[in-house]
Amino acid sequence: AAAAAPRAIAKLPEHVVNRIAAGEIIQRPSNALKELIENALDAGATSIRITVKDGGLKLLQIQDNGSGIRKDDLPILCERFTTSKIKAFEDLSSLGTYGFRGEALASISHVAHLIVTTKTRDETCAWKAAYADGDMVPVKSGSKDSAPVPCAGNDGTVLAVEDLFYNTPQRLKALRSAADEYARILQVVIAYSIHNAGVAMSCKKASAGSSNATADVNTTVGASTLDNIGATYGEPVKSQLFEVAADSAEPRVKLRAWCSGTNYQGKKGRYLFFINNRYVDCSPLKRALEAFYSNFLAKGTHPFVYLSLELDPNKVDPNVHPTKKEVGFEDETEIVELVCERLADVLASQGDSRSFKVQV
Ligand code: ADP
Ligand code: MG
Repeated sequence: AAAAAPRAIAKLPEHVVNRIAAGEIIQRPSNALKELIENALDAGATSIRITVKDGGLKLLQIQDNGSGIRKDDLPILCERFTTSKIKAFEDLSSLGTYGFRGEALASISHVAHLIVTTKTRDETCAWKAAYADGDMVPVKSGSKDSAPVPCAGNDGTVLAVEDLFYNTPQRLKALRSAADEYARILQVVIAYSIHNAGVAMSCKKASAGSSNATADVNTTVGASTLDNIGATYGEPVKSQLFEVAADSAEPRVKLRAWCSGTNYQGKKGRYLFFINNRYVDCSPLKRALEAFYSNFLAKGTHPFVYLSLELDPNKVDPNVHPTKKEVGFEDETEIVELVCERLADVLASQGDSRSFKVQV
């Protein structure tokens, strides 16, 4: 067939570009929530309260007691690439925060209605602002004034994401069900609550009528990582976990983990991986641990592994994936080997005479 005549190339309007970009970063409610939790942690919060309606599609609300946002910063809060966390590309190599791209809130504002109520310690009242497509818009419908309005509020920030994907109907259709989305949200909250012992976290469904729906996750400030694992996965799981720790200088690794032993028989494998405090997938690590445990776990049963690795920020690339879910790092083989060896040592020291083969 004859080739068709080429069609003219034209630049997309900015709001179309932004909406497409937003869809890559915010793929479902749980991605949005992960970004919001990370922002609250970056703001130094010790209390994070999450309320969810319709699997986060109707409402995703997160309240923290962190630093709050300066009133003067509110107008550019949801512009793309506005951040308080880095100033130069080089800062990425010593990143001490979750955030750095200044894209999360911007993205959310392109696919949802966003309302922010925030108060710094210095302000005498809180300020409320609403956002759409990156811009501040009037808080009250019908009003023309988009300036933040003063209101009552606690120190910290409340972010409400309403009607997620209202303007991207294909995305909305692709999501399976509110129950499924809520399960994914809970998984994110559970992971962060376990990793952030010292921060009280809760998550509940907003119930019409009764305001005191019971929380599905509810951790307290004083609870330890192990306490929080027990609170979520139950005492029987907790009682079968062993602590694994290592501090190595070359490559620089700080390993902290709670792993199940030889008698544990999980129907499903549970892997909670954190690399430099970010909840991530790490396929090489998962494959190695699966192989390790398959040597001695009963057929069809799987381990529980909570594992945190702190690596030289210089050697971690968190920017390989739009949702930052899979991260890349240097010295992967050595580090995975170190994890399996330390785990083997710990299990062997539990008086189990089996030999634990480590093969990476
Ligand atoms: P990033 O986290 O990459 O900087 P975000 O879009 O997630 O980008 O947030 C933009 C900025 O808004 C942050 O740099 C921070 O200054 C501010 N911010 C967002 N959420 C909060 C919060 N819960 N408390 C205080 N400041 C916040
Ligand atoms: Mg952020």
